[in-house]
Order: sequence, then structure tokens, then C-alpha cells
Amino acid sequence: METRNKIALITGGSRGLGRNMALAIARKGIDVVITYHTKKEAADEVIEQIRLMGQSAWAFQLDTSNTKSFGSFVNELTILLEKETNSPNIDFLINNAGTALYAPIADTTEEQVDEVFNIHYKGVFFLTQKMLPFMNDSGGIVNISSGLTRIVMPGSAVYGSLKSAVETLTRYQAKELGSRKIRVNVIAPGAIETDFGGGRVRDNKEINEQIASFTALGRTGLPDDIGKVVAFLCTEDAYWINAQRIEISGGQGI
Ligand code: NDP
Repeated sequence: METRNKIALITGGSRGLGRNMALAIARKGIDVVITYHTKKEAADEVIEQIRLMGQSAWAFQLDTSNTKSFGSFVNELTILLEKETNSPNIDFLINNAGTALYAPIADTTEEQVDEVFNIHYKGVFFLTQKMLPFMNDSGGIVNISSGLTRIVMPGSAVYGSLKSAVETLTRYQAKELGSRKIRVNVIAPGAIETDFGGGRVRDNKEINEQIASFTALGRTGLPDDIGKVVAFLCTEDAYWINAQRIEISGGQGI
């Protein structure tokens, strides 16, 4: 009997880091489900590339800041997987989707705090909770934090502190899921050239040069610096890495 490929679910896989993770994970022979928020065409292009590699891939629309939609998402996803692979389960969950907020503490509104909380903490917490019954034992979860939990930059108080909460959540998830041999780690990318925050790290020369100047390896990050590390965490070789914060920043702010 043919063995079933492992399956990874990556939120926000249509662009930026999530897209890079999806392609890198597929290169490891793992089938991929990505979610997108608004950019269906970008998601379809990722799916096409993965299928050209010979892996199965599917895309779903999901707003990870809207926990009320998670029930129907998980329902649709598991029905599709059951039909296509004879099991509703996934092996890896990559909680990647997210948006930026740059606002000094004095000017931050309650709505802004709710928005960042919903997408960067509540969404991660409850999507993981909803997926747990559909995760194979011995699988893995990768959460996404940021270098900004260590490096303090004015304007990132809410974002940075909620990413810190995700780092703490990671250790609790690792402890509670250890009995199922599910490993949970969190990566903390430094500033990376994506569309994030209006593409400021990539497109604003002054910001780009400033970040490069305080980075040991002398440049800002690229999506390719990140996806491969997440893909490695989804392999057997990473089986003893658990409950870790792995910073991927080229030595930013050291
Ligand atoms: P991008 O802006 O390039 O991509 C964001 C992705 O998230 C897209 O796929 C987008 O979907 C999706 N998304 C946005 N809002 C929602 C939502 N409400 N519900 C579901 N999906 C959503 O960002 P990055 O790839 O740079 O960032 C990915 C993660 O990495 C985030 O968690 C971010 O905080 C973190 N990070 C980024 C760093 C950076 O410098 N870029 C540094 C450190 C951490 P769609 O295409 O449909 O809009």
C-alpha cells in the first residue's frame, strides 16, 4: 500500500514568508495547504508551482483574525483531505499569517490593539486549538514571532509584546502536546524584504540601509533566509528540537 505524504498547513501562504515556507516545505516532499486572506491569484500561483514540483497542494480563503470562521474552515479542510488523501489529518501547522502595526504608544488606539491581538495571538491560539484533533501525533507546529521581541524599536510596542506572548504560548503548547510527540517551536525573523508594513524594509532605502548597518551579516533578510529553516523543522532531522525560539536575523542588533 502506498504511504501517504505528510501534509503541512501554512496560514498566509500567498505571499512573503508564508509563500517561501510553502515552496521550501514542498521541496522536502511534503504536501501543502495554504491559506490566503484576499489575494486568491497569488495563492493560486503558489499552488501551481507546488503542483509542478509533483506535490499536492490546495488553497483556502481564511481570515485568521476572525475566530468565528475557524469551525467552517476546519470542516471544509478536513472533508477535502479525507476525500483526497483518505485521512482528515495534517502533520504540520505553520501559524504565519500576520499584518504590521507601527504606532507610538501615545497614539495607539484600542481598535489597533484589538486588531493586532486578534491576528497575532487569538487567531494563532484558536486555530491551533481547532486543528489539534486533526493533527497526527509526532507532527509539529511552528509559530512566527519577530526579532522585535528582543530588539526594542519605537513604534512596535503592541506588535512586539504580542509576539512575545506567542513565544510564551509556544513553550506551553510544547509542554502540553509533548505527550502526543508534537514538537512546537517559534521562529523569530529579523526584518525581511516582503510586502509587510507596506514593503518598507524592501522599498525604503533609508530603512533598509539602517537595518543592514546594525546587522552582523550586513544586509536585511530575504524570504529565502526563512523558508528553508521552517522546512527543516518539518523534517525528521529536527525531531529533538522542541520548545525553542529560533531567531533568523543574520545577527540583527547584537
Ligand atoms: P506579507 O505582508 O508579505 O504577507 C502576509 C500574508 O498574511 C499574506 O499571505 C496575507 O494574505 C496573509 N494575511 C494578512 N492578513 C491576514 C488575515 N487577516 N487573515 C489571514 N491571512 C492574512 O507578510 P510577511 O510574509 O512578511 O509576514 C509573515 C509573518 O512573519 C507575520 O506573522 C509577520 O508578523 C512575521 N514577521 C515578518 C517580518 C518581516 O520583516 N517581513 C519580520 C518578523 C516577523 P493575502 O496575500 O491574501 O493578503
